[in-house]
Amino acid sequence: MFNEPVSNIPSVGEKTEEQLAMLDIKKVGDLLFHFPFRYDFLELKPLEEIGHEEVATIEGEVVSQPNVSFYGRKKSRLTCTIQVGVVAIKAVFFNQAFLKDRLIIGEKVTLTGKWDMHRLQLTVHKFHPQSFDEASSIEPIYHTKGKLTTANLKKLISYAIKTSLDELEEILPEAYLHNYKIPERRQAIKELHQPSSKVTLKHARRRFIYEELFIFQLKMQWVRRENKMNSHGIPKHIDPDQLNDFISELPFQLTDSQQRVLHEVLTDLKSDNRMNRLLQGDVGSGKTIIAAIALYATAMANQQGALMVPTEILAEQHEQSLKELFDDRLNIALLTGSVKGKRRREILEQLEQGKIDLVVGTHALIQEDTVFHNLGLVIVDEQHRFGVEQRKTLRDKGLTPDVLFMTATPIPRTLSITTFGDMDVSVIDEMPKGRLPVKTYWAKESMLERVYQFLIKEIQKGHQAYVICPLIEESDQLDIQNAVDLFEELSEVLPSTVNIGLMHGRLSQQDKESLMRQFANNEIQLLVSTTVIEVGVNVPNATTMVIYDAERFGLAQLHQLRGRVGRGSHQSYCILIADPKSENGKERMRVMTETTDGFELSEHDLQIRGPGDFFGKKQSGLPEFKVANIVDDYRALEVARKDAVKVMNEQLLETDPEYAELKQVIESDPLIKERIFD
Ligand code: ADP
Ligand code: MG
Repeated sequence: MFNEPVSNIPSVGEKTEEQLAMLDIKKVGDLLFHFPFRYDFLELKPLEEIGHEEVATIEGEVVSQPNVSFYGRKKSRLTCTIQVGVVAIKAVFFNQAFLKDRLIIGEKVTLTGKWDMHRLQLTVHKFHPQSFDEASSIEPIYHTKGKLTTANLKKLISYAIKTSLDELEEILPEAYLHNYKIPERRQAIKELHQPSSKVTLKHARRRFIYEELFIFQLKMQWVRRENKMNSHGIPKHIDPDQLNDFISELPFQLTDSQQRVLHEVLTDLKSDNRMNRLLQGDVGSGKTIIAAIALYATAMANQQGALMVPTEILAEQHEQSLKELFDDRLNIALLTGSVKGKRRREILEQLEQGKIDLVVGTHALIQEDTVFHNLGLVIVDEQHRFGVEQRKTLRDKGLTPDVLFMTATPIPRTLSITTFGDMDVSVIDEMPKGRLPVKTYWAKESMLERVYQFLIKEIQKGHQAYVICPLIEESDQLDIQNAVDLFEELSEVLPSTVNIGLMHGRLSQQDKESLMRQFANNEIQLLVSTTVIEVGVNVPNATTMVIYDAERFGLAQLHQLRGRVGRGSHQSYCILIADPKSENGKERMRVMTETTDGFELSEHDLQIRGPGDFFGKKQSGLPEFKVANIVDDYRALEVARKDAVKVMNEQLLETDPEYAELKQVIESDPLIKERIFD
């Protein structure tokens, strides 16, 4: 019956059919794959240890004939005396009159229910017609919707198991079952629904964790291979001498990590495969210079480049520093929302004519009606949304440039395998030499006086500082120090020789820009700001970052903010001002003071928040698994990935008949059909 509609099940009427449809159960076979989302494990408890009104499980012997009384419409009450050890108790069942025939004097039963200590009475929720054993102690818990009861759902599932399970094929080759010691598919499904013991349940779960992750990884690898095959980019002819001259003129030597990553990127640029690469590197690890060199190489190959960033401030900063870096070698333009009118038209025209080598702008850059002459490389900086959208936009516009995504939000390894399985990944895992780790302190609000003294001392040494607070204006409900007040307070506390700037999202673009410029030129020593400066901004002379209400920020954001300092050779400091109430908040402050390693922090973040929150709402590309959990099951994930890579490399799907079922599963995925990963 596997492929028959659920309406072919005798007990399923129109209503049930609708309710099942809400759970995405349409075929009988779908019932088999509606797995429990968790299990309760019941334990027997001696009567004397059960508290009043506590729900507990007991085992006893039926010692009286059950007695049923009916009342109201269709309501019933069944009572029966059960001998539990030396005590005789009364078991009460509501609306389960049918149990009458199953309560047989002299037989053992296991009952779960609410205990009334004074009347020695148990109101039974769950009944097993046998002694307590392991199987009856495991209670699968299902998601259900509408009026469909769990009991009904279980009956339907067990019907499906009886009628359809045999039609189900194994999809994993025998060797996998053998090597990983995991049960066969049918057996595993039955076990998930009707566990016979904790151990067998565990193996059944293990099997499906692996199956889900393996199939997912196969799809990723499949897409990646398809992309590689179908995405012919235009190879760039780069003069190595000219490029090396440029690199040797840089004011610093590239770190080993940077060199390795640069090599990976340049190889992509030169090849006729289209680059689809993610560059991960902690805050301050020096990603920008990699982007700059790649853009330079692209221009040398007579193709245009685009650098996209999330904020206008950052775009302006990049434009400036790139202009300094390239002198007059490249024609660079800035294209953000605030570039308007004649200037905008000019730039658009020059872009179309190919007179501009490199355009810097916000993420909106490619969304708008920008037309390029020959766009060869797109770099997306501070990419937290992981590219799916941008890739789609580019594709929709019929553009096939090389694409490099850069992110400082260290993505835990586990997640990066999952979400970027279809991309190549480069990692800068070392900081430029001579960098001192930022010293981080956690201060209570009562210590503000000392924080101010510290700020003054640092500024008097010739350094600069940021003070960050969460909101712009006072809000009644939230007791948050606001930037405006703080600005005024600090103006009073600090010596008048210190110039203080106030930056927030409500300022005009020009004001923000000029503030940033003044800060970069050290005309302003202290910048009070909301989180508008969060990402990317680079002022190496700034050594102190004070963050108010730090408990309101997530770890990733705190790490980003902290990354604004420690960019030069001086010792830098980050001071978190926070009085967190929750354990969670305290934990975050502690973690921040203990590590400056972005990857470690992100693992913590993932633990604290879970994968859903980590990516924000329904982050595209992140799959939903039924059994697997990418945080807990990261080992299985790595194994699955390795296996999937091997299968692809050896073309097993295409050549080995043992993989026929898997191949079919993968090819029938609608996402694969539409190639939405591209
Ligand atoms: P991020 O990776 O956070 O974008 P940046 O690219 O802004 O970091 O680099 C941070 C700072 O480190 C910049 O001032 C940059 O000039 C400097 N920098 C980058 N690479 C090196 C290097 N190899 N040696 C010394 N300083 C470097
Ligand atoms: Mg950066």
